[in-house]
Amino acid sequence: MILPDPKDAVRDKCGVFGIYAPGEDVAKIAYFALHSLQHRGQEGAGIAVSDGMKLRSIRNLGLVTSVFNENNLSKLKGFIAIGHNRYSTTGGNTQANTQPVILSLKHKIFAVSHNGNIVNSGELAEKLDNVKRVSTSDTEVLAYTIYNAPGDKWNEKIINAAPLFKGAYSIVACSKKRLYAFRDPWGFRPMVLGKLNGYHVVASESCALETIGATVVREVEPGEVIEINRNGITTLGNISPQGSGKKFCLFEFVYLARPDSVMNGELVHAVRFRSGQLLAREAPLKADLVAAIPDSGTSAAIGFASELGITFGEVLIKNRYIGRTFIQPEQHIRELGVKIKFNPMKSIIEGKKLILVDDSIVRGTTMKKIVETLKKNGAKEVHLRICSPPVRWPCYFGVDTPYRKDLIAASKTVSQINKFIGADSLKYLSLGGLTKASAQRKDELCTACFSGMYPMPVKHNFRKNILENTSC
Ligand code: SF4
Repeated sequence: MILPDPKDAVRDKCGVFGIYAPGEDVAKIAYFALHSLQHRGQEGAGIAVSDGMKLRSIRNLGLVTSVFNENNLSKLKGFIAIGHNRYSTTGGNTQANTQPVILSLKHKIFAVSHNGNIVNSGELAEKLDNVKRVSTSDTEVLAYTIYNAPGDKWNEKIINAAPLFKGAYSIVACSKKRLYAFRDPWGFRPMVLGKLNGYHVVASESCALETIGATVVREVEPGEVIEINRNGITTLGNISPQGSGKKFCLFEFVYLARPDSVMNGELVHAVRFRSGQLLAREAPLKADLVAAIPDSGTSAAIGFASELGITFGEVLIKNRYIGRTFIQPEQHIRELGVKIKFNPMKSIIEGKKLILVDDSIVRGTTMKKIVETLKKNGAKEVHLRICSPPVRWPCYFGVDTPYRKDLIAASKTVSQINKFIGADSLKYLSLGGLTKASAQRKDELCTACFSGMYPMPVKHNFRKNILENTSC
């Protein structure tokens, strides 16, 4: 049985989308875009649409396909839409925490979809004594902080509030008549700008733009604040860089993004392929077959196999229709051997010396089950190759990693991890190798979960606060 440990994973937290397109069915376009960003969050989805007078929204827990249908989408009429896929954290998976967050105050309406974490949201929340919050989300704190900022117009308020936010935020927002997109000055999380039938769209990843037939124009720059209205698109200003400058999340390339997205000019699949090639050079081995943990390790495994001239093949078939919210089977059903997520193909595995490639190891519990299963199915040897360095530190910038005490690499050496998992060997790609594979400038990447070098001071006791009060 291979039933992944739901806590043994690194999860991105949220995908965002925005469109300004008079005459188009913006709600349905947002639906398809969110569908292609489903990998960034599977626990809640929402779309808000403005027709210039009224802003209507639908938000709920569940996958995009379960939240929306023809009937409810047809009620979202207008020319501006923003959307959100949410991955919640511990204690935060409630309907109230789904997005877009909508503020409706003194005839002003503002809807916000956020990907990231505001690490100083606790301090900012203490200053919000004039508002009644309805959720525990840092996005609501951000939205109210913008509302309270000096300025008559939303664009002035955004520019004035933005320097107060510490952490990661790629945001699409809208008022009744305008669409906004802005990104933190470190540029932790991705955001891309595109065009569809002459109108503007923004999304977390380029795969969403391609899905809806839009062309990619460029990335929203770190710190850039954009307004889109009937006169077109304007960069309103730049949020001043704070401290270390640009710090794009290296883990987007390793695991979080879809392989068909392009980020900072690099196709994610190509980065993963190169990481496999470089790992093969760092830790070569002869074997009968190179296989991947599908789908996260596939691009890297193909690169690994090609570098060593070993055949790449599948040994595990993944059920792609299981999200994190599926019903956990009780122990006696598990014992029947229900192969819920990965089903091994015994006739391929039997008698083989296998190299199994994956993107990362978090707690190690799922990998242990996978190795056990491959051995039970007759694998002669199972050698693990991981296309990133050991994850030793938690993320505070929009990715849900376990507490440090639960990260296996925080307390165990590589050989101790290997012993725990029960593989015949275990090797990780070096940070230098991964950086080289990403083709990015080393000083423009966040590598904190591997290196412990956080781009800004983070109090580690924020962790509990973040987990319980973040929405994205
Ligand atoms: S800590 Fe890791 S996951 Fe978080 S932003 Fe930095 S590289 Fe990405």
